[in-house]
Amino acid sequence: MKYDIVIIGSGLGGLECGLILSKEGLNVCVLEQSSKVGGNLQSFTRDGCIFDTGMHYIGSMDEGQYLHKYFKYFGIADKLKLKQLDTDGFDTLTFDGDDTEYKLSQGYDNFASRLLQHFPQEKKAIDQYISRIRAVTDDFPLYDPSGTDSYHIPLPTLETCALGFLSGLSNNERLKNVLAGGLSLYPGHAGKTPLYVHACMRDSLINSCWRPVDGSQQIADLLVAGIKSYGGTVLTSHRVNEIIVENEEARAVLLDNGETIYGDNFISNAHPITSLKMIREGKIRKIYRKRITNLDNTWGAFSLYAVLKKDSFPYLNKNYFHYSADGILNASHDEKRWPDNYYFYTPATSNTGRFAESIMLMADMKFEEVSPWLGTKINRRGEEYEAFKAGKAEKLLTALEKRLPGIRANIEKVYTSTPLTFHDYTGTDEGSAYGIMKNCHDPLRSIILPRTKINNLFFTGQNMNLHGILGVTASAVITCSEIVGLQYLTNKISNG
Ligand SMILES: Cc1cc2nc3c(=O)[nH]c(=O)nc-3n(C[C@H](O)[C@H](O)[C@H](O)COP(=O)(O)OP(=O)(O)OC[C@H]3O[C@@H](n4cnc5c(N)ncnc54)[C@H](O)[C@@H]3O)c2cc1C
Repeated sequence: MKYDIVIIGSGLGGLECGLILSKEGLNVCVLEQSSKVGGNLQSFTRDGCIFDTGMHYIGSMDEGQYLHKYFKYFGIADKLKLKQLDTDGFDTLTFDGDDTEYKLSQGYDNFASRLLQHFPQEKKAIDQYISRIRAVTDDFPLYDPSGTDSYHIPLPTLETCALGFLSGLSNNERLKNVLAGGLSLYPGHAGKTPLYVHACMRDSLINSCWRPVDGSQQIADLLVAGIKSYGGTVLTSHRVNEIIVENEEARAVLLDNGETIYGDNFISNAHPITSLKMIREGKIRKIYRKRITNLDNTWGAFSLYAVLKKDSFPYLNKNYFHYSADGILNASHDEKRWPDNYYFYTPATSNTGRFAESIMLMADMKFEEVSPWLGTKINRRGEEYEAFKAGKAEKLLTALEKRLPGIRANIEKVYTSTPLTFHDYTGTDEGSAYGIMKNCHDPLRSIILPRTKINNLFFTGQNMNLHGILGVTASAVITCSEIVGLQYLTNKISNG
């Protein structure tokens, strides 16, 4: 079988590329190794509760906002089931030894006035923070699809560090740690996070902040329906083992079921290191392979999915981030103090009323902790692995119990996952949560361009410019622009 476009992987980036290109009349085939589409968009059900694996909340989905513009073009904006989080505190931050709940609010005026209540002496620093965040996102290519004529991020943007900027704002350590809180810095690598990564995550959520109702899987399922409506093909349980390359051109992919699928152009949504492993030695420039293979990944996550007893704990329409007294900027990441910071929230379903059905807890985790079990099979990793996970779950629940006394008594059952789970389910190198780390101290080395050293093979997904729903969406447009043209595509998206 031959297609115009063969896409390896049905994560957000792969599916968005599939939809953009099938809308353009190209004959697209998306190949997914798992039995379910979505990669990090996957949700799963246990004991009647729906849990998300890697997409817990999203920003800028109000009519006319950036993500909404993209999703409207995809034809999915008005079909998504989303719940807007508390406008006065979508993220609530707490610190050991401090009773205050610091709130990050939606809408810039609201965001500023709420922070001023917490830090009345810091108006200048807060104003400076906001104007810089807005300036960085205004200049970030494809953050807003309108009026973009290049997707290259200017060097000064790449080499500005979030930490340097935040440190210079004020002498108030708590304010700086509040501004740095939430999912806005690379876990474990605060010092390397470029300011643009922090700014885009923060701005997108201040614009408006939403939780998927009944799971983020719906985003993947709607994109698949879109691809199929334009005549495209999406095949699950179809793992690509090899990209067959001849004379620096990709000809076909070889699947683990022995099938060969031919194409004119190929897009890999798999992690670039995983993708390069699909190309035989000698078929791609050695120096390119070496550069990509040596890049650092961001850390992964340990996730705890807790089923709650019926009507035992209220639904919380916000996210909670808890930090040690030092905050995220000075976190020790000392194993003995794990989890010195963690995140929790109560998922929303169509049935959610006053009470929550479940709680989701997450803390950062390095791949080294689980690498001894690399190569073992899911659900058959052995007793030591189960004991390791149980120990981590115990520590995380003990930390939560301090924050929410009595919560354990409300928990009926607990499930957990580690970076090894992500490694095996999504093929992401080292089970990294946000893929390849963009390092503001060495920016050019970590840039992944859509064009590879194989003429008709492209990359897409979170490893390019930026992770998260907006970053991956922009990356999909960048990748497809190599095939259909950037201005042509952004004009179409801007015009709905
Ligand atoms: C714990 C966690 C929490 C997060 N929370 C948020 C959040 O709240 N909000 C937010 O915006 N972002 C969040 N993110 C980030 C976000 O989920 C990712 O940036 C995004 O989903 C990545 O999409 P992607 O297209 O790059 O690919 P992925 O989701 O990595 O998908 C890649 C796909 O390729 C497939 N694949 C790999 N190898 C092969 C092969 N050989 N053959 C066929 N298929 C293959 C995989 O199975 C997978 O389906 C979170 C991530 C994690 C891990």
